Amino acid sequence: MIPYGRQSINFSDVFGVAKQVAFRSLTQGTRIPEFEQNFANYVGSKYAVAVSSATAGLHLAVLAIELIPNSQIITSPISFVASSNAILYSKHRPLFIDIDKSSLNLDMKLVEQELNSNSLVKAIIPVHFAGLPCEMEQLAKLCNSKGIKIIEDAAHALGARYASGKKVGSCEFSDMTVFSFHPVKSITTGEGGMITTNSAELYKKLLRLRSHGINKLDDEFQLPLQASTKGVPNPWYYEMQELGFNYRMTEIQATLGISQLKRLSRFVQKRQSRVVWYQEALNPSLKFKPAQNTSTNTSAHHIFPIRIDFSKIMISRADLMKILKDRSVGSQVHYMPIPLHPYYQKLGYNVDKLPEAMSYYNEALTIPLYPNLKRFKQKRIVKILKEVIQ
Ligand SMILES: *Cc1c(COP(=O)(O)O)cnc(C)c1O
Repeated sequence: MIPYGRQSINFSDVFGVAKQVAFRSLTQGTRIPEFEQNFANYVGSKYAVAVSSATAGLHLAVLAIELIPNSQIITSPISFVASSNAILYSKHRPLFIDIDKSSLNLDMKLVEQELNSNSLVKAIIPVHFAGLPCEMEQLAKLCNSKGIKIIEDAAHALGARYASGKKVGSCEFSDMTVFSFHPVKSITTGEGGMITTNSAELYKKLLRLRSHGINKLDDEFQLPLQASTKGVPNPWYYEMQELGFNYRMTEIQATLGISQLKRLSRFVQKRQSRVVWYQEALNPSLKFKPAQNTSTNTSAHHIFPIRIDFSKIMISRADLMKILKDRSVGSQVHYMPIPLHPYYQKLGYNVDKLPEAMSYYNEALTIPLYPNLKRFKQKRIVKILKEVIQ
């Protein structure tokens, strides 16, 4: 079976993890700070905070900006549900803005219109869909003058670059950026995530919230009389200062992350060359085409979605996926618009103002893409698609 995405694990990943489990710390040791430091160096941010998943990271990031309850936060309908669930966890309200049909990212003109007419919007979570960075410079200009916070959902975009050339995660245009290390993403730690920021204040807050809200680093004690005896700090003493969580990553995961991060640039290059091959193979006369207009030197190429106008061909998407599966080719749909999920429907959401998201959803199919996908397999995938669709 050729899956739509998969991890690349080598011997040094395995050996490193085995050594860590056998002889070293399992949690709260030195591997996590090392992974964080290496990660911050790679993306070019001041700080990085490792967490148990990107979902946990998004939750903490939304908490860390401390909005008044019921604030509206803009996000994309074409994303994994975690992007907007993080808004609901914190008792705020997701506001879905339609996508641009060429980039499949938030339509910046519509975002601008919304920001100019709706003062309840306090933050935005742009999603770099399939690894293609949003127009962040433009977004930062729109948001900065209004004090609107920006949290990037970069779960797809580790290894991508902005038009400016800086890496996604450098937080050049945002308050925080969140990454995922789920096995289908750029690098993996099994489960895991990372938040990057350049703000010392946000950094300290994230460290606290990640571990029960207990004071960290040089945070001052709120009860100095209990904290020390005759001026000497009490060795047992710590303080819980706000309601946090246990969203920590393990040392085992961080070990795998350190090892994987060393190969990230290669992974991205390999994804890129496979996308270039697909783009050349899918000539414009075909009834299926790349769904996203990517500039190959900026995207991290997390997935490769194609678009098929099923109303013009004799076969349904469900049947096409079944034929692909019978011939050992995995495929998926990324994504059903979030407001179509029953939970969101019950909250009163609908897709009335999201025609581009709906049109994309109706035509979308993700075909396999991962660093070690062999060329002969790519050829087979395209051949089957041609046979079935044309
Ligand atoms: C995978 C993903 C997440 C969640 O990542 P986890 O690490 O699995 O929690 C969030 N947003 C997007 C866009 C994703 O693709």
